Amino acid sequence: MQIRLFNALTRKVEDFVPIIPNHVGFYSCGPTVYHYAHLGNLRTMVHNDLLKRMFLANGYDVHHVMNITDVGHLTNEDNDSGEDKMEKGAARDHKSVWDIAKFYLDEFLHDSDDLNIMRPTDMPRATEYIKEQIELIQKLEELGYTYEIPGDGIYYDTSKFADYGALTGGSLSGQRAGARVEYNDAKRNPTDFALWKYSPKDVQRQMEWDSPWGVGFPGWHTECCVMSMKLLGAHFDIHTGGEDLSRVHHTNEIAQSEPIVGKPWVHYWVHFSFLVDKSGDKMSKSKGEFLGMNAVRDRNIDPIVYRYWIVLGHYQSQLAFSFDALESAGTGYNNIVRKVVDLLANPDGEIDENVYNSWHDKILTPVSDNLKTAESLVVFQDLLKDKSVNNATKLALVKFVDDLLGLEFVQHAQKIRELETLTVPDEIQEMAQKRMEAKKSRDFATADELRNQIDSAGWTVMDTPDGYKLVKKQ
Ligand code: AMP
Ligand code: ZN
Repeated sequence: MQIRLFNALTRKVEDFVPIIPNHVGFYSCGPTVYHYAHLGNLRTMVHNDLLKRMFLANGYDVHHVMNITDVGHLTNEDNDSGEDKMEKGAARDHKSVWDIAKFYLDEFLHDSDDLNIMRPTDMPRATEYIKEQIELIQKLEELGYTYEIPGDGIYYDTSKFADYGALTGGSLSGQRAGARVEYNDAKRNPTDFALWKYSPKDVQRQMEWDSPWGVGFPGWHTECCVMSMKLLGAHFDIHTGGEDLSRVHHTNEIAQSEPIVGKPWVHYWVHFSFLVDKSGDKMSKSKGEFLGMNAVRDRNIDPIVYRYWIVLGHYQSQLAFSFDALESAGTGYNNIVRKVVDLLANPDGEIDENVYNSWHDKILTPVSDNLKTAESLVVFQDLLKDKSVNNATKLALVKFVDDLLGLEFVQHAQKIRELETLTVPDEIQEMAQKRMEAKKSRDFATADELRNQIDSAGWTVMDTPDGYKLVKKQ
């Protein structure tokens, strides 16, 4: 099936043409592990996963690389100044940078697993690639793209790169006008950026390395260039990240790579829109208060519902987060699961190949067309309602949708079915019977008391037109 994606480089939805047939190499800017991931970061990670699953469903062999930033990401990205986020996080948590990197990476992976995000093929860390980052800077130095700011570091001279800013459609001057920062006067151009920062004389950094220029640490943008090229080759198909990355981070990655490997370094740039709050502000960690996966778990909302809510939107539109929106997505999700429970209970018939193939393509087409996941869910809902499709075929298609969108419908339905088909212990059965009798004789106090006892024993009694039903609590 023809895959189409919006390419930020051309600002058009384009047919996807892989460098190697049936193979896609893609690189995603990963988390900076100085704090818990917030729901916005995780939205971006879900979109990476949806992109990957779409390629897999189209029969591609996928090589996905996502880095872990554990050094050199400064709080003021525009001006290469401020604190290193890792050092800042370590001071906040009273731990070493190495300890917080491990802690928050584990937390991030836990969140990713709960969102059913497939692990990337490779997850390199910036600190494992210092040698390669130094080599990249040396190559740029040989090619004449660098200069030193004494006492500060080695900088990239953006005026030397004719295409600077192509990703945001801007020229160098456009970037200047768009930037909203106080400038480092010593830079030759406002858009110049640090390749290597010297360790400050008065502060002992926990992470620093020797280099031909002096002890220090690499600028944030170098890591993604070296890790992607080392693992995916000098040229690769797709580079992804949140929409905030295109103006500075990805623009600077291109400026560092194309003088060395030629143009275009990456064929498709895919940017995911922000998760925002009710007033439209980007969810971000720098504001101090932010919502992570724990806020969702604390409300007893299954993390997969957060994924479902993301799938209901489109990656090029911002999503405004609220718990109300999440709760109503939860109702929609449970309605689908309920239908799958019924399919599991009555998997009648044989899979009809023709019917399967036709619905398979109807579901996959919108996702392959620039990841219109919501449209494919609408088709899927139509399938569930269609009485002409037998249950065995429907169930096979639910499994396909689970592979494509990662929503674990079958897994959740199976859990419910296991609970529903458990044999009810005699004493619970007796209590339910007594409650029924109490209700008949209008002794509601006793009926309520019995309901509470049944509840405390881990069962829910539900009234039905034929009497009552007992279901094991999850
Ligand atoms: P960070 O951990 O800050 O390095 O960010 C990890 C990823 O999350 C990057 O691709 C960011 O662009 C992305 N990101 C940051 N904030 C948001 C947000 N509010 N909504 C969606 N993605 C975001
Ligand atoms: Zn990056």
